[in-house]
Amino acid sequence: MGKVILDVENKVKKTIEKYKLLGKKEKIIVASSGGKDSSVALYILNKLGYNVEALYINLRLGDYSERCESAVRKLCEKEGIKMHVLDINEEFGMKMCNIRCGVQQKIKVSNCMVCGIVKKWLLNKHARKLGADKIVTGHHLDDEAQTIIMNFLQGNLMLGANSGPRTRIVYDKKFVPRIKPLYFVSENEIRKYCEIKKLPAAYEKCPCSASSLRIRTREFANKLGKKEKERIVENFLKILPQLSDKFQKEKIIYCRICGEPARNEICKKCSLLSVTKKVK
Ligand code: SF4
Ligand SMILES: [Zn+2]
Repeated sequence: MGKVILDVENKVKKTIEKYKLLGKKEKIIVASSGGKDSSVALYILNKLGYNVEALYINLRLGDYSERCESAVRKLCEKEGIKMHVLDINEEFGMKMCNIRCGVQQKIKVSNCMVCGIVKKWLLNKHARKLGADKIVTGHHLDDEAQTIIMNFLQGNLMLGANSGPRTRIVYDKKFVPRIKPLYFVSENEIRKYCEIKKLPAAYEKCPCSASSLRIRTREFANKLGKKEKERIVENFLKILPQLSDKFQKEKIIYCRICGEPARNEICKKCSLLSVTKKVK
């Protein structure tokens, strides 16, 4: 039991050191979903003495969102961590399901794609407002291996140019870098860590997760061993500098509609939501 705890914490420490992810004086916002992954990230960074606060986005996905919010709250109360809550209803005047349906009536795009773009936009904007130096996400080895395989299957490894343990985006005062301290920790190790430490976390699946390619890739990747997943990720990291070199040369501009950092005149969130007049 103690071995899992030590292994996971050592991997996190090594990843932070090797990729120079965090400084002890930095203010860190952990994108806390209430699930085991971000809960473990939040717990370990707090334990290691980093200046962490949790940011939970309530997407109003029925009782599921309430259970997730309650898990983050319990963990923060237990560990003395400051928690911030963003309500999608207050931000956009509607629930995530309504935003998603509005977009999907006009264009073919997966639930998670819409949700992911909106959440990233909200996270960056609000983490910046909170004075964050970095945003931490709970992405782990299995997530990363799946994403690399998915990008490969879609014939575009460039989609991963901004991935790796830290975003390789050019410096911009409006952009808060995102980092992944659990990058080399497997999902299984995270599950065990969470159970041994009895961390409050919601284990159920999001009721809206549905991306057939992601599901098929996950099924395939689940059949691979930990070593194979490590090899996928390690080999990808070898070619990442070449991929991100091209990516980094692209300039960051500010979205003409919302003023947030973007690679095009209109950011991904605004161009996605502009397909429906109902959504601002
Ligand atoms: S699983 Fe998909 S729909 Fe559910 S919260 Fe995550 S990104 Fe959003
Ligand atoms: Zn915008």
